[in-house]
Amino acid sequence: MKILITGGAGQIAYSLIPLLLSGAIFTNIKIDLLLLDIEPCMDKLEGVKMEIEDSNFKFLNSLTITSDLKTAFSDIDLAILLGGFPRLPGMERKDLLEKNLEIFKVQGEALNNYAKKTVKVLVVANPVNTNCWIANHFSPSIPNENFTSYSYLDQERLSFLLQKEYNAPNQKNIVVWGNHSSTMVPDTSYCEKDIKLTSDNIQFIQNRGASVIEKRKLSSAMSAANGISKHLKKWYYGSNDEIVSFGVFSKGYYNFPEGIFISMPVKTHSEFSYNIVNNLKINDSTRALID
Ligand code: NAD
Repeated sequence: MKILITGGAGQIAYSLIPLLLSGAIFTNIKIDLLLLDIEPCMDKLEGVKMEIEDSNFKFLNSLTITSDLKTAFSDIDLAILLGGFPRLPGMERKDLLEKNLEIFKVQGEALNNYAKKTVKVLVVANPVNTNCWIANHFSPSIPNENFTSYSYLDQERLSFLLQKEYNAPNQKNIVVWGNHSSTMVPDTSYCEKDIKLTSDNIQFIQNRGASVIEKRKLSSAMSAANGISKHLKKWYYGSNDEIVSFGVFSKGYYNFPEGIFISMPVKTHSEFSYNIVNNLKINDSTRALID
């Protein structure tokens, strides 16, 4: 599998690459890995390359580092788009919009011009749904369904909260609705155990990313890489009838505007396919939050 990671010299990539190349995501698949970063970061990327070589990863077939879009995007099967301007203390994700618009426009064009038409794209860089929309918009030759944006970390945060606060480990069918921002709506209505989230619980999930930044002075990276590995694994191998939350191209279900990217319940199948679960009954308080 030919996989591109943008922002290859960044901190999420540093946590994600070992998971990818040690077989923790794709089992028994040799990987041609391309790492893209901007020209000023090429020295740093060279250092990452040296560490990858020294790790002697079992599933690495070839490794390319580059700052050239054509080299990075040509014939790829999967693009993991981490590259962008990170959220710094005091910044809302929406503050990042302007900084990221240009990046995702040219990368969307590169997907359109150089990648396989079957390429699958996972956008992680914030503001994640907007960046995904921009990349998708500028690559009209690639199906909308091939793009997903990342809300899995919010789902994992909620899953841990259920374990810690409600003694309810391994709950399935957790849904995170809406935008990946302080207005996202975590929902446990479809879990096995009947759990009513308090407004404190909801705010905890909504603000968890900011809380990590406050302490680390950097945005989540280890947990982000971990969630990315789960998103990719579920997307490629299927969720086994479990509902998971992906940011996907809206078809208008649940009154979300058509054509935006938004976190919704999906069931994933094999080889990067999924369907949006479009028949859940949303309770009134959750609906109010979503609206
Ligand atoms: P980072 O700053 O450590 O790394 C980002 C890398 O992207 C840097 O090396 C930078 O040089 C590179 N980059 C910048 N512009 C680029 C371009 N045009 N092409 C290629 N590379 C480029 O940031 P990080 O901590 O690794 O986070 C990456 C992104 O993921 C950030 O946008 C962050 O906000 C986002 N994030 C999202 C979630 C989520 O749940 N959706 C969680 C954590 C972080």
